[in-house]
Amino acid sequence: MTAKKILLGCIADDFTGATDLANNLVRAGMRVVQTIGVPGAPLDAEADAVVVALKSRTLPKAEAVEQSLAALRWLQAQGAQQIYFKYCSTFDSTAAGNIGPVTDALMQALNTPFTIATPAFPDNKRTVFKGYLFVGDVLLNESGMQNHPLTPMTDANLVRVLQAQTTQKVGLIDHQVVAQGEAAIRARIQELQAQGVAMAIVDAVSNADLLRLGPALSDMPLLTAGSGVAIALPANFGIEPSSQAADLPAATGLQAIVSGSCSVATNQQVMDFIKSGRPSFAIDPLRIAAGVDVAAEVLAWAKAQLAGGPLLVYSTAEPSAVRAIQGQMGVEQAGALVEQTIANIARGLVELGVRQLIVAGGETSGACVQALGIAQMRIGTQIDPGVPWCFAAAEAAPEGLHLTLKSGNFGSTDFFTKAFALC
Ligand code: ADP
Repeated sequence: MTAKKILLGCIADDFTGATDLANNLVRAGMRVVQTIGVPGAPLDAEADAVVVALKSRTLPKAEAVEQSLAALRWLQAQGAQQIYFKYCSTFDSTAAGNIGPVTDALMQALNTPFTIATPAFPDNKRTVFKGYLFVGDVLLNESGMQNHPLTPMTDANLVRVLQAQTTQKVGLIDHQVVAQGEAAIRARIQELQAQGVAMAIVDAVSNADLLRLGPALSDMPLLTAGSGVAIALPANFGIEPSSQAADLPAATGLQAIVSGSCSVATNQQVMDFIKSGRPSFAIDPLRIAAGVDVAAEVLAWAKAQLAGGPLLVYSTAEPSAVRAIQGQMGVEQAGALVEQTIANIARGLVELGVRQLIVAGGETSGACVQALGIAQMRIGTQIDPGVPWCFAAAEAAPEGLHLTLKSGNFGSTDFFTKAFALC
């Protein structure tokens, strides 16, 4: 089948972030496909936008640039009229990058002298004011992100943060300008360009700000942002919100949850599911390290339970327990072993007939999608902000299965039960 040309081509620097962006585009009316990495063949589905999910956030910058340019070339070959580089709404990056270097490379490849940068995502309480990024009521560098193990964010001033990552000049389109709407924003862009500015952080404290910003971006070949700005883009292509954009085939089959996330929200969601009295199985990383075939144990247990309704398999634990395991096994070794075990379990569950699967955890999702042999997913209905149901063909389910990939801190406490009701 030959697919029609796509309108919007997106490059996301991590996996659950790609789904978050796709979700916002679908809510604004676009039919969206998310690919796992850069596809080796042309798109074989009808879509208004494609989000290429990379895992480039913390790669050495030369590799991040190379992968992003490969994604750009593929998206251009599918006809993309505008390119969207998507990063985290907490602007996760190191002093070396990768947001600045990837933006530089994409601008050069697209031969464009100006782009914007805004991680604002008011629906998830990420707002930008006077160039400073707030997470909820506090500045980025007081939000806990200052302690992030890979991308500690110690400065909330995004003009300074981005300027440290690029030799091009960074400026600001502040809230006063955004509040005046399209004409004022366009005038400010011209003014900044006359001053030699190549990238501008844009303030946005509400969805109304993002909707005012959208029309001013209609002819910008490249934009860079979190997922928030996506709510305003489909309208530039004459697309209106429609429930059809989120249409997926009817849900069938058995239901299961696998969780390798140890984030605060996931701990609450696991507790909530256990309290509901449904079956759950806790994975002990030390038994995996001792060579026990934990995946086989879990699958034997699951086989007897699945017909009765959704079940949960989890390694989710409180921070003190995780630190104790990491102390004994090493951080990376513990992470990799648990991820691989959960991925094998996910595959086994699909072989047992699971066709509605929830995966909790960003890294865990990456491992599961890989083990399931999924190359692309169509994006459906939102369960909670940033978390939609998706539909994908898998090796063990060539006819397709529903799955949702929940990043650690997303989702309400009853997410694990609520999600199946919305599938
Ligand atoms: P999140 O989205 O919450 O950050 P991730 O899946 O990205 O979740 O990361 C969680 C990491 O912690 C994974 O590498 C996972 O394998 C690891 N992990 C999960 N459970 C445990 C545990 N009980 N002890 C140590 N590490 C764990």
